[in-house]
Amino acid sequence: MLARYTVMKTGVKISFAALLLICSLASFANSPIGAPVEVHQRISPRTATIAKPTVALTLDACGGQYDADIIRLLITYNVPATIFVTKKWMDHNHAGMQDLLAHPELFQIEDHGAEHIPAVVGVGRRVYGILGQPDMAHLHREIEVAAADIRNASHRNVSWYRGATAEYDRAAINEIEKMGYKIAGFSVNADAGATLTRRAVADRLSRIKDGDIVIAHMNKPRGDTAEGFGDALPQLLARGFKFVTLNDVQVQEIR
Ligand SMILES: [Zn+2]
Repeated sequence: MLARYTVMKTGVKISFAALLLICSLASFANSPIGAPVEVHQRISPRTATIAKPTVALTLDACGGQYDADIIRLLITYNVPATIFVTKKWMDHNHAGMQDLLAHPELFQIEDHGAEHIPAVVGVGRRVYGILGQPDMAHLHREIEVAAADIRNASHRNVSWYRGATAEYDRAAINEIEKMGYKIAGFSVNADAGATLTRRAVADRLSRIKDGDIVIAHMNKPRGDTAEGFGDALPQLLARGFKFVTLNDVQVQEIR
């Protein structure tokens, strides 16, 4: 009786160990190895442009509020931009969304996710302290829920995705591309998440070059981003800069 009990107990132990092994192997398979990467891109020189220098301006609406000043500025100067919105920004900023939708000739609205969760996949993985996605199913949901809302609002296709924090696992990049989305990188960070001063934003913008893809933010009206753009934009236009949306060009990754 004692012997039989020992055998059974050992059997249970073995099964439990095997289960642990299977679980850890499964979680290993779901956890992409390696640090997240920031995707840097420029406009491809293969893009046929009608004028040079040409720059793609991209603005993120992560969450928070609507910086109407920067959108009014772009409308005033007839400057197109690609706008990356989250579902949570859309849900709380109807006036901002209406302003964007009222100018389809200027604003290409694209996907910044449902809840602004970084595209790093695996339980406990973080970027800048922000939790990523536990698994690929959650990454799919983050992308597709926002894309559906943008399609419904704009009656346009959504073909670009920029993840929160603009950092990605290699496995997430592969998955996003498999879903049919192009990842929107950048070459110039104009406002560091709307934290830079007016002068710093204007200074960074004044140094942009042909082919640059600029990232800035339109969700923090108390920041200085709009003011910096207000100082720099007229000068850039006077210098002959032409602004395009991402759908107007091909992009290439830079190292
Ligand atoms: Zn963001």
